[in-house]
Order: sequence, then C-alpha cells, then structure tokens
Amino acid sequence: MKIYRISDISSGKIIYVNNDDYASNFWGHNYSINVGATDTIHFVVNAANEDTALDYIIDYMEWAMPKQLFPIDDKPGNELMETYISGGKHGRFMTTPSNEILINEVPTVNSKNILLELKTTALEDCAGKGHKMGEWIDDLSPAGKGTSSNKCKMCGKGVMVDNDALSNEIDIGGEAIAMDCSNEYEMATPEELKRELGIG
Ligand SMILES: [Zn+2]
Repeated sequence: MKIYRISDISSGKIIYVNNDDYASNFWGHNYSINVGATDTIHFVVNAANEDTALDYIIDYMEWAMPKQLFPIDDKPGNELMETYISGGKHGRFMTTPSNEILINEVPTVNSKNILLELKTTALEDCAGKGHKMGEWIDDLSPAGKGTSSNKCKMCGKGVMVDNDALSNEIDIGGEAIAMDCSNEYEMATPEELKRELGIG
C-alpha cells in the first residue's frame, strides 16, 4: 500500500473508472483506490500497474471533476512536488496536502478464474490416481494470489495449486497427482482419520 497526498474532494460512492472495458481487456491488476482521508471517493480501476491506475483516475477526474485538477502550467514549486500526483493524457496535477490516496490491489476476476481452473484440473488428475479429495484450503494474498491445498480423504496424499506461479514454475504439484491412492486410511479408526486430516 502506498500513500499519496491528494486534493480535498468529497463524495461517498464507488466509481468504476474503466469497468466497462474489463471484459475485452486484460488489465492485469484490479485496484481499490481511495482518494481523501475523509469524505473519501472510492475508485475501482483495472490497470497494468499503480501508475497507470492513477493516470486513469486523473483522466476520469479531468472529465468528471475538472475543478479538482490543476493544469500542468500551474504545477507547484519543486519543494512541494512530492505531495502532488501528476499524470493522465494531459499531464494534470492532483493535490492538496490535507488528504491522501490509499491504493490496495484487490482480487481480479482473472486471479479467481485461474485458481478455479487449477483446482478443477488438479481434482481431475487426483481422481485419475484413485484419490478422493477433501476440501480446499486457500492461502491467498489480499489480491487473491497464492496457493490452495487439498488432501486425499483415503490416503492423505496432498495436492497444491498456485495461481501466482511464474511460467517456468509448477502450478500444480504434490504426491496425489504423482502417485496412486493407497487407501491406507480405510484401515484407520475414525479418530486416527480425523487426526491425519487435521480436524481432530
Ligand atoms: Zn488417496
């Protein structure tokens, strides 16, 4: 999370700056951007990175709230520049020192879809080895990226999926996709089974 200082504007609604374009574009990241520490304006922006997201907001504000922006000719002296944001198609400035912008990355449809696809593939692979998998346990960042794991209810072998893996990394791994089910748990007592599954 980064904090910027920003102009004193007030509103209460959520503004989806470029939501209409989401279906036909891969933006990479989904940002929740709150402008103003009090009387906050909540923006949701899809963008490749934080700088681009701020450009979209400045362009939006130039159209919707032009009085909250300074044209580039009015830029403040250098000693104040770190408290201002510039950007957008026309290089406008947003500021006053009394408020701030909070940027948080939030889950995208994209991250959720990748995780769901990986889980579906993993369950098919595990079933092909004779396993009967349990519930997924997610370990995800606030942006919806990370890993989810599952265990076979019969033998305890595990599988893990990773929707944040690099292209040269393994996004589905674990004994349950590599080895056949041994069914060893069938001989265990209910108490032992619970203990093995971590629910006892
Ligand atoms: Zn198994």
